[in-house]
Amino acid sequence: MSKEGHKYIFVLGGVMSGVGKGVVTSSVGLLLEQKGYPVNLVKVDPYLNVDAGTMNPTEHGETFVLKSGLETDQDMGNYERFLNRDLASEDYMTSGMVYQSVINRERSLGYGGKCVEAVPHVRDEITRRYEAAAAQNGARISVVEIGGTIGDFQNALFIDAARVLKMRHPDDVIFIMVSYLPVPGTLGEMKTRPTQHAVSQLNSYGVQPDFIVARSTHAVDARRKEKIAAACNIAPDRVISAPDIKSIYEVPLNLEKDHLDDELLEVLHLPEKKTVPLTAWRKFVQASNDPKAPELKIAIVGKYFDTGDFVLSDAYLSVIEAIKFSAAKLGKRATITWINAKEIEKNKSAASLAGYDGIIVPGGFGETGIEGKIEAIRFAREKKIPYLGLCYGMQLMVIEYARNVLKLKNAHTTEIQKNAEDPIVDIMLEQKKHLSGKTYGGTMRLGAYPAYLKKGTIARGAYKKELIEERHRHRYEINQLYVDRLEKAGLVFSGTSPDGTLMEIAELPKSVHPFMLGTQFHPELQARPLAPHPLFTEFLAAAAARGKKR
Ligand code: GLN
Repeated sequence: MSKEGHKYIFVLGGVMSGVGKGVVTSSVGLLLEQKGYPVNLVKVDPYLNVDAGTMNPTEHGETFVLKSGLETDQDMGNYERFLNRDLASEDYMTSGMVYQSVINRERSLGYGGKCVEAVPHVRDEITRRYEAAAAQNGARISVVEIGGTIGDFQNALFIDAARVLKMRHPDDVIFIMVSYLPVPGTLGEMKTRPTQHAVSQLNSYGVQPDFIVARSTHAVDARRKEKIAAACNIAPDRVISAPDIKSIYEVPLNLEKDHLDDELLEVLHLPEKKTVPLTAWRKFVQASNDPKAPELKIAIVGKYFDTGDFVLSDAYLSVIEAIKFSAAKLGKRATITWINAKEIEKNKSAASLAGYDGIIVPGGFGETGIEGKIEAIRFAREKKIPYLGLCYGMQLMVIEYARNVLKLKNAHTTEIQKNAEDPIVDIMLEQKKHLSGKTYGGTMRLGAYPAYLKKGTIARGAYKKELIEERHRHRYEINQLYVDRLEKAGLVFSGTSPDGTLMEIAELPKSVHPFMLGTQFHPELQARPLAPHPLFTEFLAAAAARGKKR
């Protein structure tokens, strides 16, 4: 059952994918919250994977882990960053998830002997999930982004489920179509025809958009607004102009200029409440776009680079954003250079890293580039360049320390070398069964876990508290059998699980190195524009100090 009077805004894509539906969804969420209405942002991924955890980041971008541990699409990361709030498992769904529930129910005779069909059973399961997302918290409005483009085979049931919801609650459900208006170079003129086609296709589903967000290289002028309005049966002031801009964080400010927020409330029959101006947001946007801010040169040493620059930034999206937020907080401008770990391996040297103010080795899996990453870490340690290791980047930092300081030449992780002589990083006990049983999906140590921080450490100083909670995604851990020896050799485990068995943060004392710290968790997943992550801020502050000296 739907929560009484709950409002739904479905965001659909017309013409083509990749034009910023996710950013529009996040921005609509932010704008409505600013109008005093708590919002839920929901992502629908039409693929058959049950979650986003099994997909290669070079193809699909980063896997964003929710607090609950659900592995989701990177759009969920944007949603959380815009709302400055954690989202729940109910806020995410894939076709795989939906079909899995239907099939499980069928196997336990849950359909009372009926023939189970895509329509109505799968569709009804989708509607149920839309309603479940609405019901799980105090939100007044759900903004639901349906992945893919209108006309796709895969998302048709999700659109139909939204139509059913509209049929049941005509005043409570509206549709935004995010469309693309090309400006062909040969013509130099913006063309509306593809959008008209997309709308008529959507009409054939029995759905009429209430708004069209017109994405383009240029702003949409009044004449074209009129043209789209007439052809698509929509008021001209509900055609919203959304030209390309530098930063996604400017999008809500732009949509506000076109009064999308007021129009939305009107169509949803919601009274105007007290608006909280986006002052802090605006300040952040200004700070992050300040071309005069001093530059910090950050190198990210990774391996998910194979499909070129375009995808590469997606694979590490949250890391990039986390850097941006902390840089803006410090009044700096971070420029990121991607260093392929395989190149360092080939050159047998990380000397090219000397010109950077800070080095990051982010999360990863498998063998590719691993020796290059370890070499980069050694370089950062010996040359006293600020270093931040994220998950794999922490495990490899400890391996590097064991190899070169403890002189355990064959120190390794059993992820790569099953029978390593010195397995500094080893599979977690409860993970063994998953590897042998090949039950890989959704079985890592996932989601938020608490950790205690040691007094007098960099970590404790950054967080300014003893108990933290951070999100995880790993199967391997620092081998407890080596902890004593590593500590005696100078490494500090400044954060541990409450029972003291899992090493959550490793660092070197400030007296030895300006900033050398790695986390078993992924701090980047909780970094937000209005709440930059303290570890990233501390890392960049150390980078800035180096930058000044350099
Ligand atoms: N591959 C490592 C593990 O599974 C690190 C994972 C990561 O970086 N997210 O433990």
